[in-house]
Amino acid sequence: MKERAAVIGAGIGGIVSALRLRHSGFEVEVFEAASLPGGKIAQIEKDGFRFDTGPSLFTLPSLVNELFELFGKIFSEYFSYRALPVITKYFYEDGTEINAYNDPGKFADEIERKANVKAGKVRKYLKDAETVYDLTANNFIFKAFELSTVFTKDFLRATLRINKLNTGKTMHQVNQSYFKDGRVIQLFDRYATYNGSDPYQTPGTLAVIPHLEHNIGAFFPEKGMYDIVRSLYRLAVDEGIRFRFSEKVSSVNLDSGVAKGVETQYGRYDYDLVVSDVDIFTFYDQLLPNHEIPQKQLSQERSSSALIFYWGVKGLNESLDVHNILFSQNYKREFEKIFSEKTLPEDPTVHIFISGKVVEGDAPDGHENWFVMINTPANDGQDWDSLVEKARENIIEKIHRMLDIDIRQQILFEERLDPRTIESKTGSWKGSLYGNSSNNKFAAFMRHKNKTSKIKNLYFAGGSVHPGGGIPLCLASAKIMASKVKADWK
Ligand SMILES: Cc1cc2nc3c(=O)[nH]c(=O)nc-3n(C[C@H](O)[C@H](O)[C@H](O)COP(=O)(O)OP(=O)(O)OC[C@H]3O[C@@H](n4cnc5c(N)ncnc54)[C@H](O)[C@@H]3O)c2cc1C
Repeated sequence: MKERAAVIGAGIGGIVSALRLRHSGFEVEVFEAASLPGGKIAQIEKDGFRFDTGPSLFTLPSLVNELFELFGKIFSEYFSYRALPVITKYFYEDGTEINAYNDPGKFADEIERKANVKAGKVRKYLKDAETVYDLTANNFIFKAFELSTVFTKDFLRATLRINKLNTGKTMHQVNQSYFKDGRVIQLFDRYATYNGSDPYQTPGTLAVIPHLEHNIGAFFPEKGMYDIVRSLYRLAVDEGIRFRFSEKVSSVNLDSGVAKGVETQYGRYDYDLVVSDVDIFTFYDQLLPNHEIPQKQLSQERSSSALIFYWGVKGLNESLDVHNILFSQNYKREFEKIFSEKTLPEDPTVHIFISGKVVEGDAPDGHENWFVMINTPANDGQDWDSLVEKARENIIEKIHRMLDIDIRQQILFEERLDPRTIESKTGSWKGSLYGNSSNNKFAAFMRHKNKTSKIKNLYFAGGSVHPGGGIPLCLASAKIMASKVKADWK
């Protein structure tokens, strides 16, 4: 008989964990509290509109392709995507507009044209980001980070060029060391938010993130972000993985320090191993309540959360692209508000994402599907009802001021997501989007590992454990987890 594995959670981390284990020969069942797969990657369909409600930025698609190839499938039969010609359109309060073209040379030229920065400087910045990626990816992203890592060739190579990693500076300081123009610094500082962090605190090494978008490329699935989940779920079902939806795991069964299965509202199930894709804090709090908590890992600051309005919009706004950023005037103040004061800034940076610009059928003819997001602190019981109403007014006013669009007149209906609902819908502790923040130098080392030495046959994947949040890192976490299982079960 084949060994049997239970995966708790059908977020992207859980689905891919199931696929990886299936490929290693396990019988796999996935338990999901919600009625659908995807977790934070979700969608709303209403009145002829479709909205991706969570992630909108898609990088490193090769990590998705790899999964279809693993099972000998042609990925294009399941999933298709394209490069976005313009990654993001940036708007500033002084009237500047910068198009971040996917072509890095064209992007550098655009910056030279619109800001006081030579194109060569931008090219150098992106080249250096590539170097940092080459030095760090194999140490921190695609492998488990443990004591033995420091004896590897990759680690030695990174150590010898440690000055390149900018560990002694913040991301903002790194960006300041390349550029003098505040608009360009702000543009590159924004990459700290890609893992829910603050550019004025997060280590300079994370200035590697623009490499993913600008050198490797920014993409978009032909049928929208939810198609990443839909196609991987289809592959999983085709490969014989069983999903139990609307079945919430209440605890992991332990026997003398060994994980033996899970318990749900329908009973106890026995398995040879258990993988959790549940937010690690929620996991220890709710699924393993009588067990010792890894205090150090779980006491880290949470990443930011988000407030999103989904607006069915009447009319077409030609000045906008798929991704549009309306920057705040005082970026430092915005992050102080979020991470120190744990409230919302009066002048937030606004992300307007309109998938209907590239996905046919996402909005009726002559209409647009607006996803309007601002970064927020994690949920610490703030008075969200009043904060959300105030933010909505500020956002509408900012859109009017910066884009000359009176969006209030165009909104047909509205749906919302805020830190409270992100938490209740996905089990993400405090509604954080990316687990722990990376606001200190040691954050990368402080994430919970993909396996615990305290309980045998229990493993972890997903955005709240190593190597971190965001779709590419969740895919990497499942791969690392599966390599641990392989080593233990060979
Ligand atoms: C608004 C928003 C914007 C984002 N933007 C981006 C972006 O542009 N690009 C990007 O790469 N990433 C982005 N992210 C982050 C990305 O979505 C996450 O890092 C990733 O989807 C997390 O996947 P996961 O599998 O770790 O967790 P989740 O998606 O949270 O999945 C966990 C699953 O476990 C289930 N679960 C919880 N408890 C139980 C239980 N007891 N029993 C059974 N099931 C349980 C939950 O229902 C959920 O389905 C964004 C996230 C949000 C919310």
